[in-house]
Amino acid sequence: MLLRMSTMLLKTLREDPAEAEVPSHRLLLRAGYIRRAAPGGYTYLPLGKLVLDNVARVVREEMAAAGAQEVSFPALLPRDPYETSGRWTDYGDEIFTLKDRRDTEYLLAPTHEEMFALLVQDLTSSYRDFPMILFQVQTKYRDEARPRAGLLRGREFLMKDAYSFDLTDEGLADAYGVMRVAYQKIFARLGLEHTIVSAMAGAMGGSASEEFLALADVGEDTFVGCAKCDYAANTEAVVTPAPPAPEGTPGPLTVHDTPDTPTIASLVALANERALDGRTDWTAADTLKNVVVTVHHPGGEPELLAIGVPGDREIDLKRLDAALAPATAELFDDFASRPDLVKGYIGPQGSKIRYLADPRVVAGTAWLTGANQPGKHATSVVAGRDFTPDGTIEAAEVHAGDPCPRCSEGELTIRRGIEIGHIFQLGRRYTDAFKLDVLGPDGKPVRPTMGSYGVGVSRAVAAVAEQHHDERGLVWPAEIAPADVHVVAAGKDGQVEAALRLAGELVAAGLRVLVDDRPGVSAGVKFTDAELIGIPHTVVVGRRLGDGYGELRDRRTGGRDEVLMSDMVAALTSV
Ligand code: ATP
Ligand code: MG
Repeated sequence: MLLRMSTMLLKTLREDPAEAEVPSHRLLLRAGYIRRAAPGGYTYLPLGKLVLDNVARVVREEMAAAGAQEVSFPALLPRDPYETSGRWTDYGDEIFTLKDRRDTEYLLAPTHEEMFALLVQDLTSSYRDFPMILFQVQTKYRDEARPRAGLLRGREFLMKDAYSFDLTDEGLADAYGVMRVAYQKIFARLGLEHTIVSAMAGAMGGSASEEFLALADVGEDTFVGCAKCDYAANTEAVVTPAPPAPEGTPGPLTVHDTPDTPTIASLVALANERALDGRTDWTAADTLKNVVVTVHHPGGEPELLAIGVPGDREIDLKRLDAALAPATAELFDDFASRPDLVKGYIGPQGSKIRYLADPRVVAGTAWLTGANQPGKHATSVVAGRDFTPDGTIEAAEVHAGDPCPRCSEGELTIRRGIEIGHIFQLGRRYTDAFKLDVLGPDGKPVRPTMGSYGVGVSRAVAAVAEQHHDERGLVWPAEIAPADVHVVAAGKDGQVEAALRLAGELVAAGLRVLVDDRPGVSAGVKFTDAELIGIPHTVVVGRRLGDGYGELRDRRTGGRDEVLMSDMVAALTSV
């Protein structure tokens, strides 16, 4: 492969584009890999298309090695299968729907569980057809609330989605294991430093579920790790261990005047100042904060829900959404319309709306909380005595230093990452929905069980850029770089001809070559662009050509070596 910059559709930018907040987005735009075409939609320029295809190739190779077969579905699909599975509604606002000229409803698929289940139903009839793993690399559509950061969160993006079909739970566990290993190989080849964390199953239902998170400060996911054991989980999936029920009998519920204490800090200060219940050691953790949210159930009426968390923690809206999925929630603020909900002074006792409590609110715990009257709080409000939550919910923030839910000895650390892959054991949700049965060895029908495995192919391009760049530009890992060698013709005097001759030799030796043969562009600009574009090796054909030398530069280490032009192919094919 030979690419000539003199004729290539490429324009690098000197300035940081205003639309880009994160390094990968900024550099992919500046180095001429992508252009924004629509909100959450990007055009791949020649360099970007090469990288995207390289990522897809790595994914395809590892899928094939894992025994998966490639198919390809349309993105434009009829409503029916998604209605049958329930996802037409469950996916909520994130699904793009449309109508054709006959008013028939369609969607642009966010993933394809339904279609794969139907395909397998269509083409199999016997246990002999199983196990089977199918995959595709295909464009997905999601009406993301906040498309951001270029390729990291698009509304149209490229995904590899694979689905396994097995007749037994053990078979599913095996397929899951095979995919997990394939994913580790994929991300190792892509040069993505990542962690595998326990995940929530989300709108797709199912049980065992793990995410592959690429470590990055700009990542939208946070995850916890334990310093003592191997526990690692998406913050959304952290399960709070319930503390043991306290001993002793708390005193009776007592209402106190606590004027001007709508916040936890002001309440704690006043409680200590006035020595409520004779105590001056009140802390935020002794208080129960009650937050009202509006829950939007897909296809249903909005619901007011109160959530109680210890006052030293905020509500984590992502954890809340994950806990409520497929419903979503937003903070309720229209207190004027609900005089029974006294803003700043809400207590769980006698709640008229559904009330879910943090798992730390176990029966017997006594709390300082709102008295449901303006300017009043109550002490010794006891769970199980003065109020009984309608259930527990994982909505409170996880703090660094919290005890590990698995070993309970280590403390949790919190880091950020980009979700690049997700594997999970779906079970029979979709095969049940479509009544997919095949004939078992004993002549009785068996219902296959499914696994679902996604890789964000376009997102991975950005995730790699996020992990592999410096202040001068991108630094691609060789496997997915748009070329192996960037030959720069620094000036005139036969240097362009020599550069093109070398490029031809490198191509003949099996290397992919980008040659900067642009006329009228200064050597300085060419060097800056080479660093911005980030191909692993650069050969500068310049001043020393007269002595038979070129300069071999390593983008990653910054190393520079004078190499005889006649040795250049050997030098580059041996690295
Ligand atoms: P997220 O939590 O980031 O929205 P998700 O849980 O919705 O991701 P899945 O439905 O599991 O993601 O999709 C499989 C993979 O597709 C993800 O692991 C991710 O790499 C990629 N992906 C999901 N949404 C997007 C998007 N909007 N843009 C680019 N890639 C995406
Ligand atoms: Mg999503």
